[in-house]
Amino acid sequence: MTASDQSPAYDSDNIFAKILRGEIPSTAVYEDDDTLAFMDIMPRADGHLLVIPKTPCRNVLDASPAQLEAVIRTVQKLAVAAKAAFAAEGVTIQQFNEAAGGQEVFHLHFHVLPRHEGLPLRP
Ligand code: ADP
Repeated sequence: MTASDQSPAYDSDNIFAKILRGEIPSTAVYEDDDTLAFMDIMPRADGHLLVIPKTPCRNVLDASPAQLEAVIRTVQKLAVAAKAAFAAEGVTIQQFNEAAGGQEVFHLHFHVLPRHEGLPLRP
C-alpha cells in the first residue's frame, strides 16, 4: 500500500517546485541526480537547510521507497557536513506531513538544523 491512495494530489505550484524549475532563487548547497538541498529562507538555527527530492512528492505519506531512500541519504550526508561546518554538537532533523502535522510547503522536505548545547531553536 502507498499512502498516496489517500493523500491529496501533488500541486506543482508549490514554492519548492518553483525552486526546482529555477523560477525562484534559492541558495543551493548540494545537488545530485535525485535530490537538492538549499538554505532555509527563515533559518531557525545557523546552518538550517532543507533537503528535497527532485521528483514530485507531497510528503512522507506520499513518497515512494526510492524517493525516501534518496532523500534520507542526502539528509544524513548534509547533517554530518553541517554539524562540522557549524561546529555544532548535535543536529535536529525535522519533517512535517499535511497542514495538521505542521506542513506549510507541500513538496517533501526534511529540515536539517545544526544544534548547540543550551541554544534553543529560533521561532
Ligand atoms: P514549517 O514552516 O512549519 O516549518 P514546513 O516544514 O512546510 O513547515 O517548512 C517550510 C519551510 O520552508 C520553512 O522553514 C520556510 O522558512 C521555508 N521556506 C519557505 N519558502 C522558502 C524559500 N523560498 N526558500 C527557502 N526556504 C523557504
